[in-house]
Amino acid sequence: MKQITIVESKNHVGEEVEIGAWVANKRSSGKIAFLQLRDGSGFFQGIVVKSEVEEEVFQLAKSLNQETSILLTGIIQEDSRSKFGYEIAVKSIKIIGESHDYPITPKEHGTEFLMDHRHLWLRSSKQHAIMHVRNEIIRATYNFFNEEGFIKIDPPILTANAAEDSTELFHTEYFDQEAFLSQSGQLYMEAAAMAFGKVFSFGPTFRAEKSKTRRHLIEFWMIEPEMAFMDHEQSLEVQEKYVAYIVQSVLDNCDDALSVLERDKELLKKYTELPYPRISYDDAVKLLNENGFDDITWGDDFGSPHETFIATQYDKPVFILNYPKAIKAFYMKPHPDRDDVVLCADLIAPEGYGEIVGGSEREVDFDALTQRIKDFGLTEEDYAWYLDLRKYGSVPHSGFGLGLERTVTWICGTEHIRESIPFPRLLNRIYP
Ligand code: ATP
Ligand code: MG
Ligand code: MG
Ligand code: MG
Repeated sequence: MKQITIVESKNHVGEEVEIGAWVANKRSSGKIAFLQLRDGSGFFQGIVVKSEVEEEVFQLAKSLNQETSILLTGIIQEDSRSKFGYEIAVKSIKIIGESHDYPITPKEHGTEFLMDHRHLWLRSSKQHAIMHVRNEIIRATYNFFNEEGFIKIDPPILTANAAEDSTELFHTEYFDQEAFLSQSGQLYMEAAAMAFGKVFSFGPTFRAEKSKTRRHLIEFWMIEPEMAFMDHEQSLEVQEKYVAYIVQSVLDNCDDALSVLERDKELLKKYTELPYPRISYDDAVKLLNENGFDDITWGDDFGSPHETFIATQYDKPVFILNYPKAIKAFYMKPHPDRDDVVLCADLIAPEGYGEIVGGSEREVDFDALTQRIKDFGLTEEDYAWYLDLRKYGSVPHSGFGLGLERTVTWICGTEHIRESIPFPRLLNRIYP
């Protein structure tokens, strides 16, 4: 007999098959038992009719506890009444692993309880849907950059100096030397771009974010493309094309997951229409001031209420361009017409999900970059290898970083970033 997974059942209607699954839920009457089954590939229903099976099979079905793992045989049939479209008319059941007193019952649980049981919470249909969307975004990322002629380069995770903000660094030991966990692979990706042209990385990053927000994780995954011979304008075009490509891939391949998440697909479709609107930092400050935000003056960085307000002025992701030089990283290139702002942009997601991409054109002049390193109070010797990139065939180049979990949270329409990664690391949580 053929062993199949739930997602394959539509190709086996009318056949007798074997399926390994867990019992997500169960209800039964005197004559019939309905098993809600889950095998990782999907969810569907097993139906056990008393008059059609051996008595012991029916009794076994009725006695199954939540999360018991079973091997069952039966005939796949279409069923328009079931929300999955297919079901299995069960003939035999074999218990593989017992389950007693499963702590996550269909009733409501508080967030802390669920976070303590994250290893089990992952089995729920909502978490299943989110992880499928996450997987699709990763797949779309590889496809997109492959189609666009990029190569994937992996920067190191253990590093000898900070990329940007030293207050958010995790320190560790590297034999008798101090080392840090990577906050961004960007400086290394610039070296990679000088070697390979168009490159991207996809890896974990670590930031000791001291505040609790619904957008910040301590450990998150970032996609960082870097492109030689591309100015900021060209980089913005790559960014919007990439984000629209991700959204389209999720729409094409995660229809069921989006339904489970009750996500508005028409709204998502809108996010695939290019170009994305743009507003300058200057105009964004004016807009905020005109709308009662008197806590922002030119030169301040935006907080989440500001980003959210700006986002709600548009029906698509919006680029905020040219932030003040003083609040952005040292490696960003100043605007050619005015020295107080840099050639950068943040892409802000709609609906209040905040910044999903940060990018810029890089300062590629050796003397200017050396000066910027000094201005930022950094030590030139620490950046000797990075400055070398400006000594040997320096070219204009640009790049950006997209936060995977921010993007998952936005596309899934979930409230908090903690559900967008299998095992979230938060300010007060490193378990399980
Ligand atoms: P924010 O302003 O939201 O703190 P950032 O400007 O510090 O973000 P960047 O250094 O520009 O972030 O990193 C690039 C991208 O990485 C961000 O646009 C965001 O999508 C994501 N990101 C940054 N910090 C976090 C975090 N703590 N948790 C999850 N994603 C993050
Ligand atoms: Mg930050
Ligand atoms: Mg930011
Ligand atoms: Mg940023």
